[in-house]
Amino acid sequence: MEELLQKIKNVCSSYIQNGKVATYIPELAKADPNEFGICTISLDYGISGVGDYKKSFTMQSIVKAIILLRALEDKGEAGVRKLVGVEATGKPFDAFNYSDQDLKSEHINPMINAGAIALCTLIDGENYRDKFQRLLDLTRKISGNPDLDIDEAVYKSEKATGNKNRALTYMLKAYGIINEDAEEVLDCYFRACSIKVTSVDLARIGLVLANGGNDPITGERIFDKKHAKYINAVLMTCGMYDGSGEFAITVGVPAKSGVGGGIMAVVPNRMGIGIYSPALDKKGNSCAGIKALELLSKELELSIF
Ligand code: GLU
Repeated sequence: MEELLQKIKNVCSSYIQNGKVATYIPELAKADPNEFGICTISLDYGISGVGDYKKSFTMQSIVKAIILLRALEDKGEAGVRKLVGVEATGKPFDAFNYSDQDLKSEHINPMINAGAIALCTLIDGENYRDKFQRLLDLTRKISGNPDLDIDEAVYKSEKATGNKNRALTYMLKAYGIINEDAEEVLDCYFRACSIKVTSVDLARIGLVLANGGNDPITGERIFDKKHAKYINAVLMTCGMYDGSGEFAITVGVPAKSGVGGGIMAVVPNRMGIGIYSPALDKKGNSCAGIKALELLSKELELSIF
């Protein structure tokens, strides 16, 4: 496996130049675009990694999968569906004018910022510190890494500049989707996005999702199988931003990317994959990361289709 990953890394290095590191969160602009790491943890072959697979970076949008899981475990499927839909666009089949609609829960999904911010309100906890702590604890548990924590500099950088997310949160309030204090909710969301992981952590999270919520390494059931099914389905249709359709064709597995350069992929009943390569394409997905998944999927016939 390592030989194959090394071969893939060599091919993918040239794709780095097609992308740019995210700069809208100032702290993320410091990332080195030339870094590349990939790790797979498979049910059959165990763990393999090459390149910068032990390098840590912030989860960013990848944490949306865990926010969804936390909300599902705390409030159940019905509670989650009441607040946030599951459709990639949330638009009717004959819609061409998107601008004059009310914002409704069915218009947003858990993998876009508005959906993930709304779902933070469903996490059990006395206050937003408690809610975030429960989210962090779950992330530590699924990744099998009790040392996970946030990157303070990235957290502060996004909190200071995240006005688009503020606007989205006030939209959610304006349309009555949430009623909570916007800054409190956002603080939980910004902290969540700043959780630092390595490609190994992402591969382990992917592995647990691939194995229906049961950690095959410890044998412990971490969450309900039906929630793994729900999350994997949403990742498949909405996990790679506005590139999810293309990704379904070229790679064909549930996955989530983040603007920190990470991708977490779930190969049901087979393996979890974690990738780090911070040069992003225009849609916000790691250029070399997507290429690596494409090659790996072809080589190992990973597509679920
Ligand atoms: N913290 C980032 C934001 O909300 C996450 C975006 C992403 O990774 O897509 O802007």
